Amino acid sequence: MPRISDPAGPWRYLIALGSNQRHPRHGPPPKVLRAALAAMAAAGLALEAASPIITSAPVGPSRRRYANGAARIASPLDPPALLALLQRIETAFGRVRRGQRWGARTLDLDVILWSGGPWCSKTLTVPHPCFRQRAFVLCPAATVAPYWRDPGTACTIRHLHARLTRPRPIRR
Ligand code: ATP
Ligand code: MG
Ligand code: MG
Repeated sequence: MPRISDPAGPWRYLIALGSNQRHPRHGPPPKVLRAALAAMAAAGLALEAASPIITSAPVGPSRRRYANGAARIASPLDPPALLALLQRIETAFGRVRRGQRWGARTLDLDVILWSGGPWCSKTLTVPHPCFRQRAFVLCPAATVAPYWRDPGTACTIRHLHARLTRPRPIRR
């Protein structure tokens, strides 16, 4: 763990990245995610690990497939300040919030976990309330933070991923 004086900052974060729309300059969703990681680093976030990029079926009304990834970062920013920074990056990538949940988007950056434990305010809930049910989050997250424990269940990411994707017998 870095010391408090470490310029990377005392906090660790697990970030989920998603895209299901081309960007006019960066190109298709997997390239959008690579460009987003570069933008996060350029904004001062210390990128410790980035997952391979996977594709997944859309959630909600949009029919386009997603590219998904995860990153482990270090930063001195507290969770609301980090969320504000991530939202500025989303906006810089052309994300338009149309008030429709889970609509098509060029870039989605969600805070999944942070090293400070749970955080709950009007605009931010950490751990992310849906991440335990999302293979498209847990699969890349397990490659960058397999032993990070979810404070809600005390399970590691690797365990949550295995539990979610384990084959189950069909009930007749
Ligand atoms: P989902 O949160 O189900 O993945 P989404 O990512 O599409 O949906 P957004 O439109 O990106 O949702 O965000 C809606 C609001 O969720 C944001 O304005 C933000 O204030 C809030 N929010 C709450 N908790 C989090 C979190 N852990 N990470 C990111 N945004 C969060
Ligand atoms: Mg999201
Ligand atoms: Mg989001």
